[in-house]
Order: sequence, then C-alpha cells, then structure tokens
Amino acid sequence: MAGTAVRGRLTWQVATVESLRPETAAVRTIDLDVPDWGGHRAGQHLDIRLTAEDGYVAERSYSIASAPGEPVTVTVERLENGEVSPYLTEELRAGDEIEVRGPIGGYFVWDGDASPLLLAAGGSGVVPFRSILRHRAAIGSAAPVRLLYSARSLPDVIYRAELEHPGDGVEVIYTLTRQQPPGWTGHAGRVTPALLAEAAWPVSQNPLAFVCGPTAFVEAVAAALVDLGYPADRVKTERFGGVGAS
Ligand SMILES: Cc1cc2nc3c(=O)[nH]c(=O)nc-3n(C[C@H](O)[C@H](O)[C@H](O)COP(=O)(O)OP(=O)(O)OC[C@H]3O[C@@H](n4cnc5c(N)ncnc54)[C@H](O)[C@@H]3O)c2cc1C
Repeated sequence: MAGTAVRGRLTWQVATVESLRPETAAVRTIDLDVPDWGGHRAGQHLDIRLTAEDGYVAERSYSIASAPGEPVTVTVERLENGEVSPYLTEELRAGDEIEVRGPIGGYFVWDGDASPLLLAAGGSGVVPFRSILRHRAAIGSAAPVRLLYSARSLPDVIYRAELEHPGDGVEVIYTLTRQQPPGWTGHAGRVTPALLAEAAWPVSQNPLAFVCGPTAFVEAVAAALVDLGYPADRVKTERFGGVGAS
C-alpha cells in the first residue's frame, strides 16, 4: 500500500560511509553506518544502489565482510571498466551516502555448525569467509576450518594481516596463480582436483564446503568436490559473476 512500506531487509535505506581502507592495490574495505540494520548472518550479502545525477541507477551485490553483531562492512575489488566497483574503490569518501538493502540470502550462511569447514575462495570470494571466521571466533566454535584461497599473487591477498592469525583450528592454504614471491613454498597455479584432494576434509568427517568467487572458479571447485565424494548438499556456492578465475 502506498506510503506504508515497512522497513525491512528488502527496503532500500541510506547508509553513511564511516571509513575506508585499502586491502590491496585494487581492493578496498568500506565500513558503513546503516541506521536500520536488522542484523545479519555470516555469509549473507547486501545490495548497493548508486544513482547518477542524470537518474541512471546501478545495483550490485556485495558480501558482508563483518561478523554478525559487528557494524556492516563490505570489501570491493575494482574491475577495470566496471560500472560500480571503480566508483566504490576510488571515488567514495567517508561521510558519503549510498543506498543499501539487506541482509540477503539464507543458504550461503554459517551459523555455527560444528562440522569441519572447507572454505574455498577465488579472489574477492574470500569476503564472506572473513565474516564466517570472525563469527567462529566470536562464538568460540571449535569447528576445524581449512581456508583454501586462490589469489593472483601475494600482494593481491585480501585480509592478509588478519589471515596470519585466523584463530586456533583454522588453517589457511594459499595458491598463487600468476606470480609467486622468491622462495615461495606454498602452492602455485589454480585450484586443481589434486590440490583439492589434498586440502579437503575426508568425506567420512561429514565436512561442509563453501565455495565463493568468480563463476568459473566456483563451478570448477564445486564439481571437483562432488567428484571427491562430497554430497551436493554439503557444497554451498556463491557466484560473483564474470568469467575470470583468480
Ligand atoms: C552474491 C554476490 C556477492 C558479491 N560479493 C562481492 C564482494 O564481496 N566483493 C566484490 O568485489 N564483488 C562482489 N560481487 C560482484 C559484484 O556484485 C559486481 O559484480 C562487481 O563489483 C562488478 O561490478 P561492476 O559494476 O564494477 O562491473 P560490471 O560493469 O558489472 O562488469 C564489468 C565487467 O566485468 C565482468 N565481471 C563482473 N563480475 C566479475 C567478477 N567477479 N570477476 C570477473 N569479471 C567480472 C562483467 O562480465 C563485465 O564484463 C558479488 C556478486 C554477487 C552476486
């Protein structure tokens, strides 16, 4: 009914940019003050809507990087020639206002399930896993976690300092696809079925997998996990779009 819209997760509201910080040369984390935020679960996302002076509107989805109970944070990777991400990573300033709605999604979420967790991230696909890892720490969960993180190079690793201390029982396994620093003893190249077989928890432990990143990455990793014997309903996926694999 006109004029009686109930505020909720599907209602656009104005958020104010509290602060911004660079994560890598192309990635920025943005802390938002969202006055009517109803709370979120680890793994959910929100939508951001930008309206140009001429009235042109663009909407994009961004995973929530903060844990439930923390202020809303997103982390955005600049895509060359993109419509929205260059603005969010280069133009946006503290004090600016943007429209958001959310939280969105009830499937790609982790509420504290005790199963061993495999988190597989391609590039900015690591964003919802920051929320999950922070939530795990906040609730004192003992669920063992392996984060398999594919990035182009070490300087492209998002949340690098935070991931050096991911918490007891959390193992971070990097694979660097394009460039490895001198003396690098970790993995190089894309996530292959062989690397997954090494990194993934045995199916007998009833693990839960979350796979997030560019669409091609997600599809390749999810298919490989199913080939390893993971039941499809234990492999949760979030596709960020595009064709690039990190
Ligand atoms: C549920 C969900 C959560 C998301 N969370 C995040 C997040 O946390 N951080 C983040 O940076 N992005 C995230 N994305 C992607 C984001 O919504 C935008 O698609 C992205 O920022 C590009 O928008 P753009 O307007 O800059 O580029 P566009 O103008 O939409 O596209 C520019 C070009 O890049 C291609 N492209 C679009 N997305 C990708 C991609 N991921 N990889 C490679 N090429 C691509 C397009 O096909 C196009 O050719 C998420 C997407 C979804 C669906």
